Amino acid sequence: MKTYVVGNWKLNFNIGEASIYLHKIQKKLPNYRDVEVVVAPPLIALQPLSLQIDRHKMKLSAQNAFYCDYGAYTGETSFNQLRGLVDYVLIGHSERRYIFGEDEKMIGKKVEAAVRNKITPILCIGETESERTFGETRDKLRDQIMSGLRNIAIEDADKVILAYEPVWAISSVKGAKLAAPDDVADAVKIIRETLGELYDKKVAEAVPVLFGGSVNPSNAGAYLTVPGINGVLMGGSSLILSEFIDIIEIAKRVRS
Ligand code: PEP
Repeated sequence: MKTYVVGNWKLNFNIGEASIYLHKIQKKLPNYRDVEVVVAPPLIALQPLSLQIDRHKMKLSAQNAFYCDYGAYTGETSFNQLRGLVDYVLIGHSERRYIFGEDEKMIGKKVEAAVRNKITPILCIGETESERTFGETRDKLRDQIMSGLRNIAIEDADKVILAYEPVWAISSVKGAKLAAPDDVADAVKIIRETLGELYDKKVAEAVPVLFGGSVNPSNAGAYLTVPGINGVLMGGSSLILSEFIDIIEIAKRVRS
């Protein structure tokens, strides 16, 4: 399985800035076959960047999309419209869940629509600070996986990526804390057990699980060596060229 290094640019960079930043990444980036480098620029930059990107070096992801392929849905963009532009899409990011009110039902439909349109969903799951304090992490992760993947048949289960992103560890959240690698290991166990229950042991082992939450060059190695973790998803560090490149190089070293 590849090791994934995914950068979520969120609402940063206009088209020109995004293009210059992509150019700089590609100039610095060797072609690492076993490390899949993915960036998720703002929607408006996806089309121009899809013409600029060197797909041997890296791939594009959308940050979001809507589950209907077409129709009366003002302001939305469908997975169908993103076909050919992106290989991946983030679904259920905590900012979509808690700022934009996306519920489990909507997230499940989005995962299904992504797979239907041959775009790999990166389904983000994770407990909040208070859920963690009340010992609800296991239940929360199980619920999010069960409902996020409820429309995905076993034949398609290996077309999905999961990202464990505890909300309390995301750098832009007030009072964010670093997750200990042991916390991440416990969560990965829950995630793989749940996949095993929902599908089978083979799927539980085959689905890539990423970690996200204040990942930077000084802690990336520790997270990437947690058993069962197959990559990292970053917000803040993906916006700083030297940090993003360093983390890709750490991923490469961890692999070899
Ligand atoms: C994120 O928002 O997905 C994220 C992981 O952000 P950060 O790396 O800044 O904590």
